[in-house]
Amino acid sequence: MIQTDICIIGAGPVGLFAVFEAGLLKMRCHLIDALPQIGGQLSEIYPKKPIYDIPGFPEVNAQTLVDNLREQIEPFKPTFTLGERVDGLTRTEDGSFIVTTVDGTQVKSKVVVIAAGLGSFEPRKPELQNLERFEGRGVTYMVKDPETFRQRRLVIAGGGDSALDWTIYLSSIAERVTLIHRNESFRGAPDSAEKVLKLAAEGKIDLLLSANLQSVNGNGVVKSVSVVDKQKVVKEIETDFLIPLFGLSPKLGPIADWGLNLDKSAIEVNTVDYSTNVEGIFAIGDINTYPGKLKLILCGFHEAALMAQRAFEFVYPSQKLSFKYTTVNGVNAF
Ligand SMILES: Cc1cc2nc3c(=O)[nH]c(=O)nc-3n(C[C@H](O)[C@H](O)[C@H](O)COP(=O)(O)OP(=O)(O)OC[C@H]3O[C@@H](n4cnc5c(N)ncnc54)[C@H](O)[C@@H]3O)c2cc1C
Repeated sequence: MIQTDICIIGAGPVGLFAVFEAGLLKMRCHLIDALPQIGGQLSEIYPKKPIYDIPGFPEVNAQTLVDNLREQIEPFKPTFTLGERVDGLTRTEDGSFIVTTVDGTQVKSKVVVIAAGLGSFEPRKPELQNLERFEGRGVTYMVKDPETFRQRRLVIAGGGDSALDWTIYLSSIAERVTLIHRNESFRGAPDSAEKVLKLAAEGKIDLLLSANLQSVNGNGVVKSVSVVDKQKVVKEIETDFLIPLFGLSPKLGPIADWGLNLDKSAIEVNTVDYSTNVEGIFAIGDINTYPGKLKLILCGFHEAALMAQRAFEFVYPSQKLSFKYTTVNGVNAF
């Protein structure tokens, strides 16, 4: 079991910055995110967009901001569990929490900080009979570790940035990649679409446009997928993996059942310290709500700073906190 001072659910910008504020007060953090990478909405939805309202940055690319946050928190050596959705929460006799993920990872901490943004991004799944039977047995909705696909046959489905980017990347390590898309043109970046068309023209990948998945076939594990084109001709493609990349939709999920006061799907907090109605659990960033709440990154950063001051009392109950500027105290690494 992983042991830490603060377990942060969500490695978006606000969860990341919370590591810095906690670190200044000598509190260690472990972050859990359902996505395989850090950065939350910035990395998942708009990595290449410029942001104009981060103090001190007249303009900053969303992914650059995430990269900078990662660098800023490095001295405090945060640990991460990525690609696993938080599922359960229990309380131990000594008042600590145990947070559990769907894959069984357990994190014990004195404080839980929910920085879960819009909720956990769940994959949009194609409507195929028996699809669930093959999940984890050849059907996967995320590329957690590209090495899994080395020298294997893959069918990727989708026409957005993820489908294009992974087709390009995996074409160099997989035995064979087939990309299936239901339209003639792609939704993803034109530059990536061009690269995919070039790979197909050079015979390095198979590309099936105006085609839809019809079924997944196999006996326990995926052996092939059937695809139907617009002339209604069905083709069977032998494959080891089917990777449908149809985008993600956010869901609050099991956090909604933790006894927290909710307003629609946001967690109500006390703006003194961003605590919830459950002692020791805080909620910061897009996931919380209070009168006047603005879903802005800079508001989440402010919330993280105030949360950390109060979390200190749970982690070091017998110590008195004295407030110091970083200009005075510096950033003292662990
Ligand atoms: C297109 C677009 C443009 C934007 N432009 C701006 C802008 O210019 N300026 C600005 O300030 N804001 C902007 N925003 C809003 C900004 O992105 C959000 O305010 C910010 O991402 C909130 O950060 P967060 O860390 O609270 O949540 P998020 O970024 O949503 O991160 C939350 C993380 O928690 C994870 N998570 C959730 N539930 C679970 C669970 N159960 N288990 C494990 N992990 C979980 C999610 O996977 C996610 O990675 C924009 C948003 C969009 C969509």
